[in-house]
Amino acid sequence: MDDLQLLIDLHKDGIRQGPGGDAQTRLAVALSGLEGRKDLKIADIGCGTGASTLVLADRLDAQISAVDFLPDFLAELKTRSAAAGLAGKITPIEASMDALPFSAGELDAIWSEGAIYNIGFEAGIAAWRRFLKPGGVLAVSELTWLTHERPADLQTHWAQEYAEVDVASAKFSLLERQGFSVVGYFALPEECWLDNYYRPMEQRFDAFLKANGRSDSVQAIIAAEQAEIELYEAHKAYVSYGYYIARKMGE
Ligand code: SAH
Repeated sequence: MDDLQLLIDLHKDGIRQGPGGDAQTRLAVALSGLEGRKDLKIADIGCGTGASTLVLADRLDAQISAVDFLPDFLAELKTRSAAAGLAGKITPIEASMDALPFSAGELDAIWSEGAIYNIGFEAGIAAWRRFLKPGGVLAVSELTWLTHERPADLQTHWAQEYAEVDVASAKFSLLERQGFSVVGYFALPEECWLDNYYRPMEQRFDAFLKANGRSDSVQAIIAAEQAEIELYEAHKAYVSYGYYIARKMGE
């Protein structure tokens, strides 16, 4: 099994594949101003197994395109949306976020939790803007520094993993430059990382080892996850995901 398939195996049984929480998705929905509107068309990009997709389907009168490039995650999402009685509102779409199958001006909202970093925040907001209607909503969570200064080991780790990590004010500025107006912002609290993401992942380590043996790749994946968890626990005052809710301005 190659490394990508191993990572899929570790993450596909997770409720979510990154830090987040249903309460935080609901807060973003409340800030978006979409509640109460009818017949919305929304894309949830990098939806994984659908944690945010299910909240959107539950809260909004919407048809939601759930986009991910990994069919294994979309298969889980299908099972979960059927179990929740929400399958009729959700269309899983296997596509890459840099080649989205939407038309210009088609969407009332674009959602993306913990995923835009795969093409980069600035490139992502620039590329996705055209799919939104005028006044359409962009709601994305993105790795964000919580303070102006931070410990060197934290800085080095995340700058290496994701060069675009920055403070919220810098992300606001990028959104404004790309033709968005920020309507809401909050940082994910630590339970979104620990209770909702890291602890459930740690609980899957044993089954992951059993299923895949103790090869070097398997050990390396677990070691990397454990190192990230330790770093987060040591420095959680300095880093989180920021949740950015913005509106498309101009035409
Ligand atoms: N939004 C989910 C998943 C976050 S993990 C959650 O919060 O739980 C990031 C997701 O982005 C993964 O599901 C991964 O498969 C997907 N992804 C990564 N690169 C992608 C790409 N180029 N196109 C589409 N999806 C991608």
